Amino acid sequence: MIRIIHLREKCIGCNACVELAPDRWKMSRKDGKSVLVDGEENNGIFMTFVGDDELKKNLLAAKMCPTNIIKVEKVHKKS
Ligand code: SF4
Repeated sequence: MIRIIHLREKCIGCNACVELAPDRWKMSRKDGKSVLVDGEENNGIFMTFVGDDELKKNLLAAKMCPTNIIKVEKVHKKS
């Protein structure tokens, strides 16, 4: 399992994450920032847990995000 975190407030809507991991990221038509699919919000920070099969694409999205606001980490269980 992996945890994906999105510090959405600082998103500049560059679309890189959407292109690299389209199953997990969408663009919002409302504010032009990306949306972490199935992300739960806590104080403006979105987070979700997904299977290891999504690791590679989302690591790449995190790496390519120009504002460095995507965090991807392996976890052993939900906590
Ligand atoms: S790559 Fe980063 S800045 Fe660009 S849309 Fe995704 S989260 Fe926002």
